[in-house]
Amino acid sequence: MSNTPEFQPGPDRPLPEAAEIVVIGGGVVGVTAALTLAEWGVPVALCEKGRIAGEQSSRNWGWIRIQGRDPREIPLMLESQALWRRFGERSPDDFGLRQGGIAYLAEDEEELAEREDWLASARPFQLSSRMLSAAEAGELIGRDAGRFAGGMLTPTDLHAEPALAVPALARLASEAGAAIFERTAVRTLELAGGRVAGVVTEHGAIACRSVILAGGAWCRPFLENMGRSLPQLAVRSQALRTAPAPAIAPGPVGTRSASVRPRLDGGYTVGRVHAARFDLIPAAFAHFRKFLPLYRDRWRFVRLRFGPEFFGALGRRRWRADQFSPMEQARALDPPPDMRVLDGILTGARSVYPQLQGVPAVESWGGMIDVTPDEVPLVGPVAGLEGLTLAGGLSGHGFGLGPGIGLLAAQLATGRDPAADPAPFATDRFDRP
Ligand SMILES: Cc1cc2nc3c(=O)[nH]c(=O)nc-3n(C[C@H](O)[C@H](O)[C@H](O)COP(=O)(O)OP(=O)(O)OC[C@H]3O[C@@H](n4cnc5c(N)ncnc54)[C@H](O)[C@@H]3O)c2cc1C
Repeated sequence: MSNTPEFQPGPDRPLPEAAEIVVIGGGVVGVTAALTLAEWGVPVALCEKGRIAGEQSSRNWGWIRIQGRDPREIPLMLESQALWRRFGERSPDDFGLRQGGIAYLAEDEEELAEREDWLASARPFQLSSRMLSAAEAGELIGRDAGRFAGGMLTPTDLHAEPALAVPALARLASEAGAAIFERTAVRTLELAGGRVAGVVTEHGAIACRSVILAGGAWCRPFLENMGRSLPQLAVRSQALRTAPAPAIAPGPVGTRSASVRPRLDGGYTVGRVHAARFDLIPAAFAHFRKFLPLYRDRWRFVRLRFGPEFFGALGRRRWRADQFSPMEQARALDPPPDMRVLDGILTGARSVYPQLQGVPAVESWGGMIDVTPDEVPLVGPVAGLEGLTLAGGLSGHGFGLGPGIGLLAAQLATGRDPAADPAPFATDRFDRP
């Protein structure tokens, strides 16, 4: 697929015997954590079981938005947008980072009221977000004034080309001194007296003082295998890209029917929120109670069914350090896109954005999204595994927030002052009464 990320790490090197910190996972979180650490001069090795950005971090829509975020994420998201801008300036590669603003257009008064409520809750942060009148909303995408009830625009929001962006950041990390290893699955952690002493990979062990687990959807099975329970599930989503099309707006636009993001190749990445599918796997039963509110309120459009993953990669629970692991079995989670859902999304997109009429879809793909019960990431220490910092559960909006989470994880792992209060991200917050 044209979204396939390309990272050239240079000549093959043997695994180091030791590093100060090992980062597990080469998505946006792991790569930006490694980049940050390398810039600080901390010896860091990153192990990725497949390719850099082979999972969610190349399959997403590419929105880097503050608009609509949970207020708990906003301070870190401001850091994250600043980091994106800095990385964009430093990278010799154009990875499509643009400040085109992000707009949401409301089809009715109820949707508009939801946006107004969010704007009121975000007011203390003095963001650039503002409401659009019905006329402004229509005008933004070249429609008449009566098409939408109104909308919201955040002019400072960004977008980028995910399959180009994360490999470009990995190249920056590599140049800054991070040792990056692809096709290197970490099977488990080595512990000494309850403390992290190293990692065991499929190619051998690396001794280290500290580990950052940035494994996306794999964080839960990885920790379950070590006897720790993590409230994190995965939903399947999908997107498509079109052939080049006339301009719709300078940045991404969302509506209930379909959301679009302008691509560097002149086409659009198209998707729809709430179009994910939740597969029943054993972990769903284990964490049923914690996810119940989310399932009721947020996943009402999600179709529940026993999926092929039930006994598959994310479903299997136990392996030993000397055994072939599920992470080697599944180098990249690559679920087939639901074409029926995508056909509906494309029809919706063409009705909302006339610029897409007659423009064909040229590629589609699926992705597994890791979710927590409150859709806010899990970042911080894990009880009983001293020296481990978890950085996962980015809940479908972690491309934009990824550099902020990578920074926070690097700060916590090295005992530096955190850029934002880590309390809202505490990994044990669902276990408290
Ligand atoms: C269709 C879709 C649309 C989305 N749209 C947006 C959007 O517009 N904006 C936004 O902000 N977010 C969006 N997201 C969400 C965003 O992509 C994710 O939140 C983000 O990429 C998560 O990054 P990550 O680094 O945590 O995980 P991932 O990108 O999944 O990376 C984890 C990596 O860890 C590796 N790994 C796991 N376990 C091991 C192990 N034991 N050893 C070695 N390697 C391991 C995996 O192979 C993987 O490459 C979207 C997601 C999807 C699927």
